Amino acid sequence: MSTDAVAREAAVADPLARNKPVAAVKKVCAHCGRDDVGNDAAVKWDVPTQSWVVGTVYDCAAFCDECDGETELRDVPVELIISTPVVFSAVRLAEYVASHGFGEPLVEAFDVGRALFDQGDDYATVAAEIVTRGLTTQAEGRVRPFTVFVQQADGRGRVHISAQSALNEDDASVAALAEAAADWNTADSELEVLGVAMGDVEIVSWNG
Ligand SMILES: [Zn+2]
Repeated sequence: MSTDAVAREAAVADPLARNKPVAAVKKVCAHCGRDDVGNDAAVKWDVPTQSWVVGTVYDCAAFCDECDGETELRDVPVELIISTPVVFSAVRLAEYVASHGFGEPLVEAFDVGRALFDQGDDYATVAAEIVTRGLTTQAEGRVRPFTVFVQQADGRGRVHISAQSALNEDDASVAALAEAAADWNTADSELEVLGVAMGDVEIVSWNG
């Protein structure tokens, strides 16, 4: 028994099975290959669904409009194209933006990104545009927080820790040296930068 016949029997035995996808095929004319085909069948009135349902599909009763007469039918597999709506993913955009090395997208970057995405741009293009517009946490020309550790140039004394908002590490270092010099009432030439950390670091404990 063919798959088609099995499905048909199941459909007759279980009315609900009619709604189940059995296989994605296309019926074509065995002679000309076109799909302008049909098959004679008997229908029965179905009270629950208030509609005619196929009762019996007659064998040897297939016809082809193209060949203008009886034919045999063949099953040709078809690929079902299920179109799913493409939803903008903020997470994906953030991943693409991060790959450029300029940090995370800013909040306003997601609105811009979504608009570009809806216009048909792909994530790579949108991310490049976000970076170009400087809409990231580490965009060039954007002030960002640093934590700078300063010590006496002779390596003695305590460590001065300060938070600096600066364009880059060098600017943060200069600002930190000036701040430490003022705090310790000394010349900044007497001091040196021990280290610079990205971000406003909270020191939990420090020995020294
Ligand atoms: Zn035909």
